[in-house]
Amino acid sequence: MTSTGSCLCGAVTIEFAETPKETGACHCGMCRKWSGGVYLALPVAAGKATFGGEENIALYPSSDWAERAFCRTCGTNLFYRLTTPGPHQGDMFVCLGLLDDPSGVTLTEEVFYDEKPAGYAFAGDTKKVTGAELIAQFEAGG
Ligand SMILES: [Zn+2]
Ligand SMILES: [Zn+2]
Repeated sequence: MTSTGSCLCGAVTIEFAETPKETGACHCGMCRKWSGGVYLALPVAAGKATFGGEENIALYPSSDWAERAFCRTCGTNLFYRLTTPGPHQGDMFVCLGLLDDPSGVTLTEEVFYDEKPAGYAFAGDTKKVTGAELIAQFEAGG
């Protein structure tokens, strides 16, 4: 069974090569502003998703190592993608909200946990990673 998704207006569609099972949350300040709250993302390796309506995808270079995409028509956030040349180039974190049926997806990890505002939290057992730990992991090639 293939998993599919789209933006709010339907101009951008996505088909996942593998059914997403796990999602992660990013509590960093950039993701908070970009997503409008908490960024819930599906990790998707480069080439493991196919987009339709690519001409409707706008890209914003949010840092020296990544870009963020949104639909030109409805503004739905689509994905965060690593741009630095190397083994992770093209790896994406696709917005959970695009999925037509997210019922089989479990929240397993929260990153930049140290930047999470104190006023809210997810229930349930998740792996909690600080920003420093995540950057160290990335620099180690993990
Ligand atoms: Zn749209
Ligand atoms: Zn973030």
